[in-house]
Amino acid sequence: MIVVLKPNLEPAEVEKVIAEVVKLGYEPRPIHGNVQTVIAAIGDENTHQSLETLASWPQVEHVHRVQKRYKLVSREVKKGADKDTIVKVHGQEIGAGKKFCFMAGPCSVESEEQLLATAKAVKAQGATFLRGGAYKPRTSPYEFQGLAKEGLRLLAQAAKEYDLGIVTEVLSERDVELVAAYSDILQIGARNAQNFSLITEAARSGKTILLKRGMSMKIEEWLLAAEYVLAHGNPNVLLCERGIRTFETYTRNTLDLGAVAAIKKESHLPVIIDPSQGCGRADMVLELCKAAVALNADGLLIEVHPNPAEAWSDGQQQVDFNLYAKLVAELKPFVTAVGRPL
Ligand code: PEP
Ligand code: MN
Repeated sequence: MIVVLKPNLEPAEVEKVIAEVVKLGYEPRPIHGNVQTVIAAIGDENTHQSLETLASWPQVEHVHRVQKRYKLVSREVKKGADKDTIVKVHGQEIGAGKKFCFMAGPCSVESEEQLLATAKAVKAQGATFLRGGAYKPRTSPYEFQGLAKEGLRLLAQAAKEYDLGIVTEVLSERDVELVAAYSDILQIGARNAQNFSLITEAARSGKTILLKRGMSMKIEEWLLAAEYVLAHGNPNVLLCERGIRTFETYTRNTLDLGAVAAIKKESHLPVIIDPSQGCGRADMVLELCKAAVALNADGLLIEVHPNPAEAWSDGQQQVDFNLYAKLVAELKPFVTAVGRPL
């Protein structure tokens, strides 16, 4: 920590601050300028009590952290050959330049017919995971809330028939055990991305966690939410950028591609991009998928529906089977261009 003192303090006042730094377990290295003193406080900021409370002292102008608040998700913990995490799930390897991963399926599981048709269509285009919500976080309590356990059963049926892994959202701590029993990847949605008791419970299930970014979450907060999963002994996290809320209304959210570049710099965890929630418009999904590949994302989570106009949720952003096939075909040269197997 760096403690910057106010100008022109009496030496006795400076000494009081130095004494407190020692009391809090840090080794003080004062640097006396002509006007101001700066104290470099040496110690592990993540295990010692924070010196940030010193900011309330009348002698202190600012306190700055030097260390990052996250550790396990940070690139700094991984050095050498295995510097990127590879998540192994449903016989697939996600991350570190491995095969680009397509996760596709409807926003909500609606019926056997809808889900089986979608599973078949996305499998034919090389998807390895079927997405679909059985528990839906809806803004209005009057909107379709998902088929719950029946939805999970349908996911299991479709995934078995077409040999796909399952990605599905868990909304509540109460459902973690049940959802984990039916799925390969537990999705923590944007609205729950800082629900730390849910994240902890999901982490303990041992399943891979797909952690969406909350719609007003800073990159640091998103990484700290992922840190919860790793801190509870589960290293299998996929970070999923799905757009943040901005002043822009042309799109449903603003897909923050800069954050993906930042995460790739800061963290060893794989990154998945969800262009569907990211823009909220089927006619923009393809272009954003291209950007995702160019950014070296490790996979895509795409909403696909047999008949988006009749979807029970997010119809405007789901692509139909024809558009999905076109999308995958157009994307292939991009994936090859970044040197990834398909
Ligand atoms: C979804 O994937 O359908 C969904 C609800 O996502 P998010 O939590 O990103 O809004
Ligand atoms: Mn959706």
